[in-house]
Amino acid sequence: MTEFNAEQHQISQISGMFDDGLIMAKRDGVILSTNAAATRYFGKNLIGRSIFDVIEDAEFTTLFAATIGTAETVEMRYEPSHAVRREFRVRIKQLDDGSVALLFLDMTLQRNLEKVRRDFVANVSHELRSPLTSVVGFIETLLTDEVADRAMRTRFLEIMNEEAKRMTRLIDDLLSLSQVEVEEHIVPDQTVNLSELLCAVKDSLAGRATAKGMRIIIEQHSPADNSEPLSILGNHDEITEVFVNLLENAIKYGFDASDIVLCVRVVPTQQVQIDVTNQGDGIENHHLARLTERFYRVDKARSRQIGGTGLGLAIVKHIINRHRGSLNVTSTLGESTTFSVILPRLSPETG
Ligand code: ADP
Repeated sequence: MTEFNAEQHQISQISGMFDDGLIMAKRDGVILSTNAAATRYFGKNLIGRSIFDVIEDAEFTTLFAATIGTAETVEMRYEPSHAVRREFRVRIKQLDDGSVALLFLDMTLQRNLEKVRRDFVANVSHELRSPLTSVVGFIETLLTDEVADRAMRTRFLEIMNEEAKRMTRLIDDLLSLSQVEVEEHIVPDQTVNLSELLCAVKDSLAGRATAKGMRIIIEQHSPADNSEPLSILGNHDEITEVFVNLLENAIKYGFDASDIVLCVRVVPTQQVQIDVTNQGDGIENHHLARLTERFYRVDKARSRQIGGTGLGLAIVKHIINRHRGSLNVTSTLGESTTFSVILPRLSPETG
């Protein structure tokens, strides 16, 4: 191999390490070489084909022609029309030897992240705007002094109070979510006595359950090997938040005067599974995979009316991820819904 060829070979090997696609073409557009990323983006067997058949875009054709005979690098945005939605920043430059280098920087992930952020901001603004509009409306009405009836004034103030509480809940949930997202990579390391924690959560929500004529029942299937309390490595407050959220939902979406069952058992390979089951209308299958998305609700109006923020299950999912556990949902329409939490168990020996 000559020194020149060895260098070429080295460059081609290095370009194989790029995430960005690199295509070398002759000045008439015939493709001379590609790196691995370009093959991933535009398919195999590119060499010998015309770049204009691969990148069918009028702006591209014009810019390619414009670079010939200049030393300038030109840049454009390119979205292939056929493929799965992708977006590239393309740089085109003619090299000293007359060949043309085309660099394809994949912007898809960055664009998707920007979209997620924009959607999130839009959702939060929308969620805050509804209660705010309602509060402002009532304040304006009260200020006109046209509401002479004392009972009516009290009713308005009660609604404003509810709306203000809704905004507080939303902000609390947003803060919880961002906190747990920041810490998701750190596995928590407190020893948490799960049996005690579940009893405490049950007691804290007993009043709300009773108000709907419901009962919360804990069924603990102790491991056969010992009678030690069930413990996990975790963060006490976060695990409490998981079960408060799941039980609150079971109360909110469960039938009046029905039972909510918390079934706790040890499952193979040092895990503990906690099933939270409520009797209720259930959830249609196609919603199940999306329930943990932020602000995803099966029935928006109903969730809002009963005070939901649409963030509870997103928080639950992130906390469980942080604990390296998993969350599963199963539902039978018109009958019941079960949220199953699986967490790594702290064995009595290691605990
Ligand atoms: P929300 O604040 O609206 O309750 P969540 O994130 O806690 O938000 O739940 C998302 C959606 O999942 C709810 O709006 C509801 O439609 C559905 N959901 C959650 N738990 C249950 C349940 N136990 N039974 C039926 N639907 C449920």
